Amino acid sequence: MQPIQIQIPTSFAQTPSLSGIRKIGLAILLVGIAVFLLGATGAFAASPLMYSVFSFGMVLLGAFTYIVPLVREHSAGIQNTGIMFSKASHRGAVAWLIGVGMTGFYVLLYWFPEYLTHCIASVNWLSFALKGKAADQWFLYGTIYTLAVLVMGVRMIIKYRHSKYQIVRTLSVMFFQLVFAYLIPSFLALMHQPDFYFTYFWPLKFDYLNPFTVRYYLASPNHLMVFMIFWGFMMTLVATPVLTYFFGKRWYCSWVCGCGGLAETLGDPFRQNSDKSLRAWKIERWMIHSVLVFAVVTTALLWLNSSMQGAILGEASGMFAKAYGFLIGSVFSGVVGTGFYPIMGSRVWCRFGCPQAAILGVLQKYFSRFRITTNGDQCISCGNCSTYCEMGIDVRAYAQRGENIVRASCVGCGVCSAVCPRGVLSLENGPAQGKTRF
Ligand code: SF4
Ligand code: SF4
Repeated sequence: MQPIQIQIPTSFAQTPSLSGIRKIGLAILLVGIAVFLLGATGAFAASPLMYSVFSFGMVLLGAFTYIVPLVREHSAGIQNTGIMFSKASHRGAVAWLIGVGMTGFYVLLYWFPEYLTHCIASVNWLSFALKGKAADQWFLYGTIYTLAVLVMGVRMIIKYRHSKYQIVRTLSVMFFQLVFAYLIPSFLALMHQPDFYFTYFWPLKFDYLNPFTVRYYLASPNHLMVFMIFWGFMMTLVATPVLTYFFGKRWYCSWVCGCGGLAETLGDPFRQNSDKSLRAWKIERWMIHSVLVFAVVTTALLWLNSSMQGAILGEASGMFAKAYGFLIGSVFSGVVGTGFYPIMGSRVWCRFGCPQAAILGVLQKYFSRFRITTNGDQCISCGNCSTYCEMGIDVRAYAQRGENIVRASCVGCGVCSAVCPRGVLSLENGPAQGKTRF
């Protein structure tokens, strides 16, 4: 029997070449990054403001010069051309370089911030303007993070400009990152109030239901601190189940959360790298629910210990919170969760580690009105939906059977629907009866 020859059309196998203007944009962007890295050595220590203007300014100028021409040069939606052959978008050398660079940055940020002293000093002027004090590594991180969401958010809007859902959703994550995760915490610092993020709740922000934090805030004469604790309780115990019942986990994971916001914007070029295998699905369920159990057990133990005046854990009580903060907060959500975007896809943390996503997922699967409906007759099995599902869901398999998709892991990003050429998939909130659950 003759072996089957599969010919890949040349147009799919070739990465499209960049236009002149986009090449210039990319060059400016890379020079900006090089200036930033050079400045870390102290080369521009004498003039941190100029360092800041040149490095951040060139990165922004280069990024927009690279991104904006997409309006003219690319039609709306996914361009499959060459995406699985590109060294950047499909785990090639460029992807590894970006991954190693991002991972290295997180390692320095968490454990060796002294190597970032000059980079931190470069944003002092901004920190004084917003917070009234000198920058630290977290202000530098917040600034870079917010810029990444805003710049790549513009790219996302241009890319999916045919989809109103994608435009509004992207504007939403840009707004929540800029206002709630960057400006409001800076304003709180300016007013000498404690650090607080109104868009993060327990268990994602483990500390917000830690008995030490709760007691300390409640004992404060400061009404705002008491309100923060009230807000955290309400969001965790009331808003989360109610909103998830009506809208699924997407109200948080794809519209509000900063981690989701970064994944949906900076991570979008890598979304096709998520593993779609059954093995990955099994690992995902074990891992994410283990982290949730860890968070719940640790919090329960801390409360029990606190109510018994430290009789259970004694001196060791602080260790639990520290262990959680190190393993989950730093190593998993930061270093692995973001640094591995180019290799494992854009939602590594949300898929394998986020305890908030685990709770929302359980609610979504068993109690929510949200589902993706499929019009199986129209499906041509192109596989776009499965390829670009960042949570590794084999959407096509459901579409071919004409079954609704009710998966705990689905973050409701809607990209499967936006890239479907036949309009097979619709994100809907409807009556819960008759849903097929998996
Ligand atoms: S199934 Fe669709 S909406 Fe859900 S995570 Fe995957 S791409 Fe996003
Ligand atoms: S549902 Fe749409 S995108 Fe998915 S395989 Fe079918 S036609 Fe392609």
